[in-house]
Amino acid sequence: MLKWLWKFMTGENMLWREVIRAKYEMENRWMAKMVTTPYGCCIWRSIRNHWPLFLSRTRFQVGNGMKVSFWEDRWIAQRTLKQLFPDLYTLHLQQNATVAEMWTGHGWNLHLGRNLNDWEMGNIVAFHDTMAQFSNLTREEDKVVWKIGSKGVFSVKSAYKDLNHSNSNDRMELWPWQMIWRPKIPYKVNCFTWSLAKEVVLTQENIKKRKFQLCSRCYLCEEQAETINHLFLHCKWTDQLWRIFSSLRKITWVKPRNIVQLLNCWINIGNTTIKEERWRIVPACIWWTVWKEKNQRCFEGKKNN
Ligand SMILES: [Zn+2]
Repeated sequence: MLKWLWKFMTGENMLWREVIRAKYEMENRWMAKMVTTPYGCCIWRSIRNHWPLFLSRTRFQVGNGMKVSFWEDRWIAQRTLKQLFPDLYTLHLQQNATVAEMWTGHGWNLHLGRNLNDWEMGNIVAFHDTMAQFSNLTREEDKVVWKIGSKGVFSVKSAYKDLNHSNSNDRMELWPWQMIWRPKIPYKVNCFTWSLAKEVVLTQENIKKRKFQLCSRCYLCEEQAETINHLFLHCKWTDQLWRIFSSLRKITWVKPRNIVQLLNCWINIGNTTIKEERWRIVPACIWWTVWKEKNQRCFEGKKNN
């Protein structure tokens, strides 16, 4: 998703970009507005939601100054000028001016709404100190720079690595891609495991989230509500399948709470090497079996023992 944001910001004359520009309008000179209506393309909506995360890993490099916002883009310091000098920003009459509109060739053209008081002069001094590192505009276009890595260009690899190692709030739980995509099983089963880990499989729990009224009941045990974690991990019927394998390896374990956690710990609890293929495919096999059984009971009224 971050790659599409990068393409949106750096690409010109691409039809898909023009369509999004026209449909959602631009929020600033770099990005389209957030999708707030219940309608519209859900793929772009999800991509656009990652904009703050993406933006925190970029900075802007000023060339001709025509695109970079003087106050609101991060280009001369670690933070935007709006964040560094909120008082000046409030007083400034052209808050969305570009760098080019502010630069006179020799200095900065500040249009403040009133004269500054004595006690505000410190702000102006600090402002000019910060701006002293700027030399001049060039003929090149302004561009966005990816801060992760040395090349300044976005790559999926660098973004993935950074998100996994980041200590910030947007840290993702380690995504168990090796357990999902490496097992050599039918591709549709890999895909199914992926959708389970994403929690988008159409269980009754997820159907209810789409505002369908139904009385949720697990097709296997007929005792509890059908949620992903119940059906595929904790249901007493499914549990028997897990026990077959845990007793084979003589392991005692507290079953993880959700699918991703299970995938992340599966290799370790099996006391196995990462290369052992047979052990790796067990979760996917159990889940596929459970899913087929559930669907048979639901749609064909057939029950296997
Ligand atoms: Zn059940």
